Amino acid sequence: MQVYIGLGSNLADPEQQILSAIEDIAAIKETTLLQQSSLYSSPPMGPQDQPDYINAVVCIDTTLSAHKLLDALQKIEQQHGRIRKRHWGERTLDLDILLFADKVIEDERLSVPHPGMASRAFVLFPLAEIAPEISIPGMGELSVLLEQCPREGLKQLDKQ
Ligand code: ATP
Ligand code: CA
Ligand code: CA
Repeated sequence: MQVYIGLGSNLADPEQQILSAIEDIAAIKETTLLQQSSLYSSPPMGPQDQPDYINAVVCIDTTLSAHKLLDALQKIEQQHGRIRKRHWGERTLDLDILLFADKVIEDERLSVPHPGMASRAFVLFPLAEIAPEISIPGMGELSVLLEQCPREGLKQLDKQ
């Protein structure tokens, strides 16, 4: 299955957190890293008294189920010292499953496609870098979503 994952960090050297998280994702069993966007910086969502975020989106190929993949991603978040402080608050690492092939999943642990993605510049712009033609189940063409989404301070950082 081709799966898109959104990464975010705004604590403890966020650029390094994201780059090493991408390596950790590539090392998940039964999983191959196919593509990665460049890094972006974005102003925080929710509480404004926290640092800007570094964001990226990657595409993997995996034979894991969505729930097993979520287990692996949450383990990586823990290894990066993630502590839950407040809703949409600062964190060393956030890994969200954006798309799981063309599947729609709705249960107590998972909502896929990720319900916030349609209006989040820090998801749509990096996603468009690696999958410009994609369409999102229940949300439509990425290109149309992008036209409706202000950049809101999102900046593409120099390629590594
Ligand atoms: P948001 O989901 O709005 O971006 P958040 O990333 O800050 O907010 P978290 O605290 O990281 O939210 O996650 C809370 C729970 O969301 C997780 O424990 C997980 O079970 C659930 N969840 C639901 N759908 C997804 C998904 N597509 N990817 C990752 N986690 C998800
Ligand atoms: Ca998130
Ligand atoms: Ca999350």
